[in-house]
Amino acid sequence: MVRIKISKILEQKIRRGYPWVFHYQVQNENIKGKAGDLAVVYDSKNQFLAIGLYDPESEIRLRILQTSNPVDIDSDFFEERFNKALVLRDNLFSEGTTGYRVINGESDGFPGLVLDRYENTAVMKLYTSAWLPYLDILIELIKKKIAVKRCVLRRSRKVAALLETSKIYSEGHLLFGDNVDGPIRFKENGIDFEADVIFGQKTGFYLDQRDNRQAVRLLSKRKSVLNVFSYTGAFSVYAFAGGASSVLEVDSNSIALEASKKNLRLHFSSRDFSEAEFSQIKADGFNALSALESDNQKYDMVILDPPAFAKRKKQKNVALNAYMKLAKAGAKVTKKGGLLFAASCSVHVSPASFFKNVFLGIKSAGHRFEEISRTSHAKDHPFISSEGQYLKGVFCRII
Ligand code: SAH
Repeated sequence: MVRIKISKILEQKIRRGYPWVFHYQVQNENIKGKAGDLAVVYDSKNQFLAIGLYDPESEIRLRILQTSNPVDIDSDFFEERFNKALVLRDNLFSEGTTGYRVINGESDGFPGLVLDRYENTAVMKLYTSAWLPYLDILIELIKKKIAVKRCVLRRSRKVAALLETSKIYSEGHLLFGDNVDGPIRFKENGIDFEADVIFGQKTGFYLDQRDNRQAVRLLSKRKSVLNVFSYTGAFSVYAFAGGASSVLEVDSNSIALEASKKNLRLHFSSRDFSEAEFSQIKADGFNALSALESDNQKYDMVILDPPAFAKRKKQKNVALNAYMKLAKAGAKVTKKGGLLFAASCSVHVSPASFFKNVFLGIKSAGHRFEEISRTSHAKDHPFISSEGQYLKGVFCRII
């Protein structure tokens, strides 16, 4: 078995629940393992500290599965974890929500693995190929524990690059069940949606924003809404469900914009939206905002939910600056007394620094504001450590 030595400082962190050993944190390893090997970390007294999934191709060399006492990593081990994840989500959803996260990676004890459910379709997304040797165990567990008809495999960009030559694990590879012949329908808080589980971003839908969307729905009555970075229109459909008078969407991706129109038709099948009620702009979010400002357009509610600006740690400051600029541009097109919702899903940007930059942005637009609430992921996206809290959002009233 691979044996890894690390620093005392990291040892303490891991005891407190930190889930990773990066490649540069490995002080010594007895052999070079292959992806999916189990590796053990010993502490400074040469006692067992942790066991985890080894991945020589990933910057995260080891993803911790278990600390303090050594246990067998087998199907029983994973079944217990799966049960815990299910218990955590028990009673979380009414029958009005059939799309949710069943397993949230590190926080549910499956580091680097996400399992989302869309009605009867499960989607497993792997952020490390270290899980590939465990696929059979995982498939059996999914079949046994959740009554889905099929399960699709999605791979992070890095895992995809590694598996490029593998015909077995292509994007959207069917792990079991019937072929997927189009977008999958599901419900969220009673609203109908479709997700492209094969080519859509993440596993097809941003399930983590569910609670923020519900908040938007409750605040939308008779409001004109600007939804920037709208993707497949989830915030827009919620806004109309809450009685919004109009929604304008901005996204640079035409496929997402088309999917958004479909989602609107799906939920409001008997309603014809006029151009004044619903329209879209295919453009860069920043450019669209400055064009709207030049045109003196203002909205009762502005939603800013951009992609992660900091994909790497080094980009943190550039990202913070971009969040500030975005909040400034958003505040400029928000009516006095109107609401601005700003979100960030950058794991490298802390909640405190994100909020600070949003507030700076609003102020630099020449506005005062009242903070209404700070938000995070929905409850099916638990996080064990600060590393897990990637999503942060804030609702502000512009005054
Ligand atoms: N709010 C969405 C999720 C947004 S994901 C939801 O709740 O489902 C981020 C979106 O930003 C994607 O749809 C992507 O196409 C879009 N995007 C990325 N860069 C962009 C840019 N520079 N300008 C406009 N849209 C962009």
